[in-house]
Amino acid sequence: MSRLFTRRQILLTSAAGGLGLAAPRRAPALSHTSAGSTHAAGGAQLNQASLAKLAARFQGRLIVPQDADYDEARMVWNGAFSKRPALIARCANKKDVVSSIQFARECGLSPAIRSGGHSLAGKSTVDGGMVIDLSQMKRIDIGPDAASVIVQPGVTLGEFDAATQRIGAATTMGTEPSTGVAGLTLGGGLGWLMGKHGLACDNLIAVELVTAEGLSLRASVDENEDLFWAMRGAGANFGAATSLELRLHPVGPVLAGFVKYPPARLRDALSLYRDFSSTAPDEVGVELGLIPGANGPPTPSIAVCYCGDPKVGEKVLAPLRAMGPPLRDAIEMMPYERLQALGGVGPGKVSTLVRSGILKALDERTLDTIAAHAAEAPPMSGSFVLEYLHGAVTRVARTDAAFPHRDGAYSFAAHAFWWDSAQEERARNWVYAFWDAMQPLVRTAVYSNYLGDEGAERARASYGENYSRLLSLKRRFDPANFFRLNQNIDPRQS
Ligand SMILES: Cc1cc2nc3c(=O)[nH]c(=O)nc-3n(C[C@H](O)[C@H](O)[C@H](O)COP(=O)(O)OP(=O)(O)OC[C@H]3O[C@@H](n4cnc5c(N)ncnc54)[C@H](O)[C@@H]3O)c2cc1C
Repeated sequence: MSRLFTRRQILLTSAAGGLGLAAPRRAPALSHTSAGSTHAAGGAQLNQASLAKLAARFQGRLIVPQDADYDEARMVWNGAFSKRPALIARCANKKDVVSSIQFARECGLSPAIRSGGHSLAGKSTVDGGMVIDLSQMKRIDIGPDAASVIVQPGVTLGEFDAATQRIGAATTMGTEPSTGVAGLTLGGGLGWLMGKHGLACDNLIAVELVTAEGLSLRASVDENEDLFWAMRGAGANFGAATSLELRLHPVGPVLAGFVKYPPARLRDALSLYRDFSSTAPDEVGVELGLIPGANGPPTPSIAVCYCGDPKVGEKVLAPLRAMGPPLRDAIEMMPYERLQALGGVGPGKVSTLVRSGILKALDERTLDTIAAHAAEAPPMSGSFVLEYLHGAVTRVARTDAAFPHRDGAYSFAAHAFWWDSAQEERARNWVYAFWDAMQPLVRTAVYSNYLGDEGAERARASYGENYSRLLSLKRRFDPANFFRLNQNIDPRQS
């Protein structure tokens, strides 16, 4: 989901400020409400003796509501999810993750695993439970042959791209630099390079994870194969990933950027996007979206990346420049890292609501519906994005990994942002009305990472025909549904 024409233009912010590597070791300050226990928000109780034991072996930082930085530490990227965990365990290493999982189990605390904190469903924070915060685990090890990289889960896309571009390499990652590599990859991972190199999860070579029982395991094509299958699209349900090994590809400068069209040509831009994307070669990543207007109507924009011979790219991208005079043509050669960083970070705390689904078809009725609702987008707030899951994504069989959307489909998402509560109602209502109108035009299928907190049926639909295998694996690896703050596969479901 690119910010080239959505978030960047309206200055989004990040909650991921202050990500240092070293975490001072200290026991948490606790206030006692009764002998031996500490009350937490939401009614959960932290047992003082257990907490002291955890603090004694914990290398990272335990943050409780009495700590000065609790308010900063509890915030996630999306301001709409302002929850109050009883405990935030900021892990420094795998041992801390094991200890945190054991502690949450012993104390009956709902665990929220957090890496980049970008969950659009608010699943990486929890009222009264325990955030197992992996955001400080930021090691990046490039393999000796530069063909692979091992990253810890706190690494963001921006950090990943910076490290891998230093050796002229990359792999598919999403398009917003402060998103976490872990949450994105374990759910799928759409990005500019997916047509050529597949999804982020298609490039996963191995993952180390801590299970609900607190066991540390490695999963790959030849170790714990079932888990490895599940981690590529439904990973958050099966464990806390403590490292991810990803395949790298040589990626140099790319021909990329965006073309903005006059607002009056929104419908034409939709047709152009359909015609262009449906015949685009694998080297092309292309999205259509909307730049919300400040006072006037929103501006359609096609953002694109051509990852291949630039001379060929110029010809391939020519149709995007041929639809009459654009408002702006900003396609040029640029380092891949610059394209990835175009998201930028602006001031203020943003909240957002997203509704997304896989389209049945990009036919005239669909384009008309999108155009009609997009034209009514609330100023500085409403937007949508179309993404094409093509090329290498479709050359992986639907049941080869948990991520099921492999038939060359378009993902649609309507989203709106607000910076203060005065904007919220209009923003939400616009997204809901848009989404209602799209109902006949979308399949039940949806990319799990674009789901909000929308209930069991939608979560189930995000796994498509892989759901039953996932359900039996969930019953095997996490029968008590310890990992439940995610697009959940509930082991008690039939
Ligand atoms: C602004 C924005 C832009 C986006 N753009 C894209 C895009 O271009 N392409 C794309 O594919 N997606 C995109 N997304 C969606 C993104 O992939 C998901 O929100 C993703 O889950 C974020 O991962 P995270 O680590 O930042 O999130 P978190 O909020 O930390 O986690 C998300 C989920 O994964 C679980 N989880 C996190 N870390 C781990 C771990 N180490 N082990 C097990 N489970 C874990 C959490 O419990 C939670 O359920 C975007 C989201 C936003 C908000």
